[in-house]
Amino acid sequence: MPDFLTSETSRREFMRTFSLGAGASLLGASALASPLDWLAPGRKLGVALVGLGKYSGGQLAPALQQTKYCQLAGIVTGSPAKAAQWQKQYGLAAKNCYDYKTFDRIIDNPAIDIVYVVLPNALHAEYVVRAAQAGKHVICEKPMATTVADAQHMIAAVKKAGKQLSVGYRLHFEPHNQAVMRLGQSQAYGKINHLAADNGFKFGNDTPWRVDKKLSGGGPLMDMGIYCLQGCLYTKGQVPISVTAKLSPETGSGYFQEVEAGVDWQLRFADGSVADCRTSYAQNMQGRLRAEATNGWFELEPAYGYGGLAGKTSKNDNVLDLPNINQQAAQMDAFAQCVLQNKPTSVPGEMGLRDVQLLTAIYRAAETGQSVSTKDVVQLIDRTHAK
Ligand code: NAD
Repeated sequence: MPDFLTSETSRREFMRTFSLGAGASLLGASALASPLDWLAPGRKLGVALVGLGKYSGGQLAPALQQTKYCQLAGIVTGSPAKAAQWQKQYGLAAKNCYDYKTFDRIIDNPAIDIVYVVLPNALHAEYVVRAAQAGKHVICEKPMATTVADAQHMIAAVKKAGKQLSVGYRLHFEPHNQAVMRLGQSQAYGKINHLAADNGFKFGNDTPWRVDKKLSGGGPLMDMGIYCLQGCLYTKGQVPISVTAKLSPETGSGYFQEVEAGVDWQLRFADGSVADCRTSYAQNMQGRLRAEATNGWFELEPAYGYGGLAGKTSKNDNVLDLPNINQQAAQMDAFAQCVLQNKPTSVPGEMGLRDVQLLTAIYRAAETGQSVSTKDVVQLIDRTHAK
């Protein structure tokens, strides 16, 4: 039983999933020494990227040149020119390149094991469901969905297919963030009484879908604030019991007609501790995650970028002097190993659902000016690095 499932409901759900999927039979077969033992010699799992925008082109495709257990094997794009350029650049077979209409034919392609959905947020649901129906394992970028109903539908579709679903939360595979999970959850500095997190950038409209509510589902909270939310939960090791929130005053001006320009929010935990968080599209922020505990403090700044992460502690020790790695390569190799060994990912679709539920509660709190209870939120924390 994975220890990141904290509630009885989650445990029961997990057991049900595994008794339905191929996992039940394969879990017992983890005696093989290396994930590569599961593969034919020379073969890595094939990943197809859906949506070839900035993140796919700038981060994921280069990272897939460094992965051990998976490789870039296919693409899905609406642009024939991009398809031709990627085929040439990455030596992709034409038969592994799809457009959004032909995508479902991927069902017949054994070279593709994992579909990675990297589209504007509101399109994640459709492509995750179609990938599952094509019998593929799926990674979905954050935020997993723009509505709770979509996230639930995605989880159900992947379960029905007997495949695995993960969310592109790369920081769960990053050494500094793993260290704060461990420091916080093991209470190495005592009980955490207060958390502070911020993350934002000055939006310049280079990706207009980010301020189009139909495509994004929301503004910086969905895009950048989700890292603060994640950081507070995995550091505290708890899901909050309620939230309050306030939109920033630039909301309604300039680019921010449909989505918030920024939001300040507070998470309250059952033990009385709180997390104060801030995100913005109107202000550049380094990205910070700080925990104040009974016996000291620790913090990361920058906490959430692709590199250059750094941390400090009140003990002036070196526990956060850690290497910066290729996070996306580590994330995708970790998922590939889960697929190969049929062990559950520490970052499952249910975690994406939890966060969509919390983001929805934060928006509701901002709209109403009231504290919103989060008692119905999935109780799930990544405890992989807790010790
Ligand atoms: P982007 O705008 O650069 O790329 C989006 C891609 O989707 C483009 O190739 C575009 O052509 C395609 N697309 C298909 N249908 C579209 C439509 N109807 N409207 C607009 N574009 C459409 O965006 P991005 O920055 O690559 O973000 C894509 C996803 O990746 C988002 O969900 C985002 O949150 C996520 N992301 C995650 C990280 C991370 O660190 N995990 C970083 C950046 C982006």
